Amino acid sequence: MRPLSDVIQNLGANDSPERFKRIYLLLAFSCLVLILALSFTVISRQNKNNLIEDAGFHSGKIAAALLSSESDIIQTKTIDGIKTLAIEASQIPSLDQNIRVFLHPFSIVKIKIYNMSRRIIYCTDQSLIGKSDRNNLRLANALAGQRQTNIKDMQSVTDLADEKRLEIDVAEVYVPVRDEQGQIVGAFELYNDISDLKIGFQRHLTSSLATIFIALLFLSFTSYVVITRESAALRTAYQLLETLATTDALTGIYNRRQLLARAAELYSMMQRSRDKVTEGIGLGVVMIDVDYFKMVNDTHGHLVGDSILNDLTKRIETALRPYDVFGRYGGEEFMIFLPNTSRDEAKMISCRVLNAVSGQPYHAGELPLTVTTSIGCTWTDGSDESLDTVLSRVDNLLYEAKRNGRNQVFCRF
Ligand code: GH3
Ligand code: MG
Ligand code: MG
Repeated sequence: MRPLSDVIQNLGANDSPERFKRIYLLLAFSCLVLILALSFTVISRQNKNNLIEDAGFHSGKIAAALLSSESDIIQTKTIDGIKTLAIEASQIPSLDQNIRVFLHPFSIVKIKIYNMSRRIIYCTDQSLIGKSDRNNLRLANALAGQRQTNIKDMQSVTDLADEKRLEIDVAEVYVPVRDEQGQIVGAFELYNDISDLKIGFQRHLTSSLATIFIALLFLSFTSYVVITRESAALRTAYQLLETLATTDALTGIYNRRQLLARAAELYSMMQRSRDKVTEGIGLGVVMIDVDYFKMVNDTHGHLVGDSILNDLTKRIETALRPYDVFGRYGGEEFMIFLPNTSRDEAKMISCRVLNAVSGQPYHAGELPLTVTTSIGCTWTDGSDESLDTVLSRVDNLLYEAKRNGRNQVFCRF
């Protein structure tokens, strides 16, 4: 299993809570559009089906009522061996009058009565009486026993070449007419004015879509608020983990892992831009070890030792430049990487560190205690085989400083 610090270090911008929020917003917007489009399609289709169903049902009832009230005039006869509806020509004016009175309360704007030969034997538009509608499939289906309903908008309301156009939206319904034995003897065609119904359905569609939109918007907004709040908590936790993974718990400076990662970055950057770098400017590398620290611990206790390590770290920081990379390398060992630095500057900063650490005594309980360090210092312009070569060199220099009597800087470039 990968260590936690590894996982945290490898968390890139791709895993950030902000990215999660962006994905959520994109998804929420897409879902909103998709759901609205789907709702629009489903509700429109449902409205149209309801319209067809209603118009068909009512037209059937009206046709049956009309037939029974006008049974004296609309008769069933057998012509050429076929039972069919028939109306005496002399009866048409009085039938027309009766039908207009009968239809007055209903929103039927036109009516046609067909016999079995598809001939119009009555129509509210009397100029059509006597004409045949040969190529009308709906009429054929009605004469075969099926009720047919069709919605027509005001642009297309016509089915006979010389028929007048109606300036309204209609549901055109063909109703089969049967005699007492149930045999089909003709058909009614009723034109239902559905303009008002259509307006009603349009309002229903708009209000349904508005309700769905508001509900979805509310849902998306509340989810967004929750996600934003959780993201902030995640971001804080992420930052805390990042701090824990990269810093030393006692001193708050870089831990060994982060220190070496930053050093590797600096070294490879310097290698990549070697030809652009000014001659004599490179990376100073400094290794510091506290002298006789075991004795400090043994004499004053570990807590005092810890407090001294903490103070000592702060003193070293005062001797550094803002862009120097400083971290705890091991127990009482520290390292400093000095970017854009000459050999002389590296040596100067090392001496500054040495003096900053030992310049003032530390507090070991009531007693003042002087602490010194030994420091190895080297420099590279990126021409070394690897960073490890430089690290091993500075380690040897630190050892030389120890061997030479401690409390000193030992440099070799
Ligand atoms: P030298 O001058 O040769 O470096 O002697 P030294 O005693 O410093 O060297 P040595 O390596 O023998 O001892 C290092 C000591 O540092 C041992 C260990 O107890 C102490 N140490 C390491 N980390 C910590 C820490 O976090 N807190 C405290 N209090 N002591 C630590
Ligand atoms: Mg040591
Ligand atoms: Mg030591």
